[in-house]
Amino acid sequence: MKVFTKNSELTAFLDTKREAGLEIGFVPTMGALHKGHLSLMGYAQQQTDISVCSIFVNPTQFNDKADLERYPRTPEQDLAMLEAANCDVVFMPSVEEVYPEPDTRQFSFGLLDEVLEGARRPGHFNGVAQVVSRLFDRVKPHRAFFGSKDYQQVMVVKQLVQNLHLNIDVVACPILREADGLAMSSRNMLLSEEERQAATLIYDVMQVSKSMKEKKSSVLATRQAVISILSKKSIYQLDYFEICDAKTLKAIHSWEESKHVVGLIACYVGKIRLIDNLVY
Ligand code: AMP
Repeated sequence: MKVFTKNSELTAFLDTKREAGLEIGFVPTMGALHKGHLSLMGYAQQQTDISVCSIFVNPTQFNDKADLERYPRTPEQDLAMLEAANCDVVFMPSVEEVYPEPDTRQFSFGLLDEVLEGARRPGHFNGVAQVVSRLFDRVKPHRAFFGSKDYQQVMVVKQLVQNLHLNIDVVACPILREADGLAMSSRNMLLSEEERQAATLIYDVMQVSKSMKEKKSSVLATRQAVISILSKKSIYQLDYFEICDAKTLKAIHSWEESKHVVGLIACYVGKIRLIDNLVY
């Protein structure tokens, strides 16, 4: 496994592989790796010849400074996990290497970045677009693998690739969950034992919403049920639960409005904000 910290060394190495006709698969991450990240690596390895993983905690996508400061960083463990998973290339740049000067570019994704995470975390998707476009420019992957856990992010990245006319296939991969249903996340390691146990309710309420849809409850009643369950205990603070068209992220008011529907949730458990979603 090759580990690079400099753009020039990374691009020189990958250029030789690309020129040899090999396909490059890319998994961008912020580190503190778990099995969800490794599953993306698995898809990259199945579908391409050279697997590249980046580890970079991108400051421009954090609208909350405290969240950036407490974001978990486990570089040695990450490298060991990637080595064991047979990753070919790791890119671990410094902030100065990625942003030698501040990135002032403003991206616009219409409704996609105005709702849900976009509305709650102003500037978040602009920061994601800044870093992903820079990383894409350095890695020049044929395919890039993203987790559906960050459902809105995958849509934004697909739009970014279209807007910039990049020839990159963005692959949305399934959510990996713990045995009790909690979506794997680097932030889970910040939860206390009590919070970790409580966090399973996020998955449970998503299942409740799914069964209410199956039993033909209204969208309004389904939303209210989820909100009501979570409001009963002070450990949870619901940020949003929305039922949306899976292709546009426009909120729907009746199930018949859309053929493909997704429920999306963001909820604080204690101080830690977790997100999840379920395509019904
Ligand atoms: P992050 O390090 O949190 O920025 O995540 C890096 C990539 O891993 C993103 O594409 C995430 O959507 C993806 N990812 C995070 N958690 C999971 C999970 N539980 N299952 C699948 N992919 C995930």
